Amino acid sequence: MVENLRRYGVITSNKVAQVMEAIDRAFFVPEGMQPYADSPMPIGHNATISAPHMHAYCLQLLEQNLQPGMRALDVGSGSGYLTACFGLMVRPEGRAVGVEHIPELVSYSIENIQKSAAAPLLKDSSLSVHCGDGRQGWAECGPYDAIHVGAAAEEIPEALMEQLKEGGRMVIPVGNMFQDLQVVDKNSDGSLTIRTETSVLYVPLTSPDAQLRGY
Ligand code: SAH
Repeated sequence: MVENLRRYGVITSNKVAQVMEAIDRAFFVPEGMQPYADSPMPIGHNATISAPHMHAYCLQLLEQNLQPGMRALDVGSGSGYLTACFGLMVRPEGRAVGVEHIPELVSYSIENIQKSAAAPLLKDSSLSVHCGDGRQGWAECGPYDAIHVGAAAEEIPEALMEQLKEGGRMVIPVGNMFQDLQVVDKNSDGSLTIRTETSVLYVPLTSPDAQLRGY
């Protein structure tokens, strides 16, 4: 999988290649699915694990903000795949935090991470996954050098802008039907620079009720 993503020019970073090789996607997709196919897959509760190329893309956009010792927040952490990758990238001394609003997916992701190379990080609490509304972020462990949002927001949540450290970067899909993957950089004076990277299609960042009703 990683070899193919390299061949097609999706993965250009050695560090991202190493981390995606270390975190075996087979532990993060339901049994019977093709773990290494480059497509999103259903993980239940109207959620999907993103395609490997999207994971690679987001990791590369955030790479400078996922250095050892840094803090990373994964909102809508779903399968836990990216949270696990964040954990490996920021170790040692860093902190990776996932927030997911469906309790069953929180348990699912923790079980997945436990099978993966990131398992020791759960033990020493440098990686954690919490149940909550990701639109509120997770202030307790912030501010963050890197924030990834894995579901599309109508607008960038205020709490996430606040929990971004100066010099920090957030990658977030914004929009309804058509979504822009936006890259939000917080400057040293606290102002934000926002650019659109590409068009994407994510499930909405919403309430559990709306999600379980099928949006
Ligand atoms: N990056 C994850 C993406 C999962 S899909 C992965 O690749 O596995 C998006 C996830 O966002 C779903 O698991 C969904 O349950 C979650 N989600 C949607 N709205 C949310 C909210 N308000 N707070 C927390 N999680 C949310």
